[in-house]
Amino acid sequence: MNAIAYKRIVIKVGTSVLTGGGRDLYRPHMLELVRQCAELHGRGVEVIVCSSAAIAAGRARLDFPALPANIANKQLLAAVGQSRLMQTWEQLFDIYGIHVGQVLLTREDVVNRRRYLNARDALSALIEHRIVPVVNENDALATAEIKVGDNDNLSALLATLVNADLLLLLTDQPGLFTADPRTDPNAELIPEVRKIDDTLRALAGDSKSGLGVGGMVTKLQAADTARRAGTDVVIAAGRAHNVILRATAGEAVGTRFPALATPLENRKRWIWAGPKPRGVLTVDDGAARAILQRGRSLLPAGVVRLSGKFNRGDTVTVANLAEEELARGLVAYSEPALQKIMGCHSELIEQRLGYTYGPTVVHRNDMVLLTD
Ligand code: GLU
Repeated sequence: MNAIAYKRIVIKVGTSVLTGGGRDLYRPHMLELVRQCAELHGRGVEVIVCSSAAIAAGRARLDFPALPANIANKQLLAAVGQSRLMQTWEQLFDIYGIHVGQVLLTREDVVNRRRYLNARDALSALIEHRIVPVVNENDALATAEIKVGDNDNLSALLATLVNADLLLLLTDQPGLFTADPRTDPNAELIPEVRKIDDTLRALAGDSKSGLGVGGMVTKLQAADTARRAGTDVVIAAGRAHNVILRATAGEAVGTRFPALATPLENRKRWIWAGPKPRGVLTVDDGAARAILQRGRSLLPAGVVRLSGKFNRGDTVTVANLAEEELARGLVAYSEPALQKIMGCHSELIEQRLGYTYGPTVVHRNDMVLLTD
């Protein structure tokens, strides 16, 4: 099948792929991936690499020093390893005459709208000049609070940031299985996932049932983020023959998560992938229907319950009476203000607060619906 023509792809390469299961970067594997990237690049496809293994490379470079496992030492290893990692990617891409550029991100670069746009500009400039961005988390400086924490989720945010049409998560497993292929002879590869539900999440999180191979949980989270933003996702084995070329051609390889039908516009992608929700607005059935079925904004009259502390402009979750997340959006009123106006008609806002920011609590242009 050659019907799908992806134009912009993010390829996330996990540590297990980059080291080939060993203790240091394994250049033959990396070269094999670079060869495929170069072929796509030659065809005009825009390739963005999200590379792990900074810490592993640092450890190897320093010959496995016995360091206490504290944050400063991890940062030290990342600082040494990141430059080694980049040097290796640069040498390998150079074989094909392709330039690379390093971009190190943290969660702040996604959460803060100004930094988000800044990161997007930097990546766009590289892509436009046919330079392959090689992205990692800024492990040498990022502290736990501002870290994304794993490169699966980082790559999904990256795919959202650059509006990629494919996110390819390369790992040491052929994809998602119905059970643990190492212990269950009946385990089958799941070729396509259209719904990420609790059953699937439980399967991924349950090590006994087999999908609990390290990292499947974060891969599912990443897949969900990206497909909702309009990006197809494939989880596949980094060592599978021509895996990048096959996934990009739309061939059946690994587990594919088709993007949800409507890709989000830029601002909505930021709302979805950026700041974590700071509160929950529970709405009645009428408001839930108006939002989901008629594309309406949320008015104070429909809000029945609040939780969390949030300010005007923060991201909040809109939930139904069963506390299922229906939408996510930017809230126009702070939590203390909303306490005073929830349940009441919009015309009464000014009278109750002494000011008004308009009739809606979450405007539909500021809201991402989670319809699936
Ligand atoms: N950023 C980490 C590193 O480069 C990897 C995190 C991950 O693999 O999820 O070592």
